[in-house]
Amino acid sequence: MQEGKIVIFSAPSGTGKTTLVQWLLTQGLNLGFSVSATSRPPRNTEVDGKDYFFLTPADFRQKIEANAFLEWEEVYTDKFYGTLRSEVERMMADGRNVLLDIDVKGGLNIKQQYGSKALAVFIKPPSIDVLCQRLEKRGTESADVIRERLEKASFELSFAPKFDAVIVNDDLETAKQNCLEEVRSFISTDPND
Ligand code: 5GP
Repeated sequence: MQEGKIVIFSAPSGTGKTTLVQWLLTQGLNLGFSVSATSRPPRNTEVDGKDYFFLTPADFRQKIEANAFLEWEEVYTDKFYGTLRSEVERMMADGRNVLLDIDVKGGLNIKQQYGSKALAVFIKPPSIDVLCQRLEKRGTESADVIRERLEKASFELSFAPKFDAVIVNDDLETAKQNCLEEVRSFISTDPND
């Protein structure tokens, strides 16, 4: 059985990355979603163990000590997020491909660790203005949080050239097809070729 591969999706918050990731999971690519751990509180509809493993800051720190993360970041002030080694290794060993929805720095970190076994995709908003409108429309964050996320977005955009592929999410249907093409082609290629 061939070991699974890793597909990383990173993007500034509000770019539509989660929508694209959720859609890709339904496209018959033998992709499993790696559920991350976070110390931020759940949003309304989020389910523990499905969207994230929601941990207290103390539990999160304990997992860092126990080397349970492939990578972790303080993505926003006091908000920790980490990719669980157990999630990724279990799925890869089962021959499944693993889809990660993680921040830009974490994405590049995993890419560095896994090299040609990983595809790092950067989803880009058409512009910062459009990103601002989308975050306001989503209505899940306060004005302060939106401001913090927009400031961070400009910084994150500067990392786009380091990714294997950059896909602009202007028209959602076009972005979906572009993602599908990239991921399908990567998954069907033997890394030893
Ligand atoms: P949100 O709070 O909107 O769910 O996520 C905020 C950011 O943290 C997003 O860019 C998301 O992709 C990222 N994120 C989620 N899980 C992880 C993780 O395990 N590691 C890192 N580095 N970032 C993550």
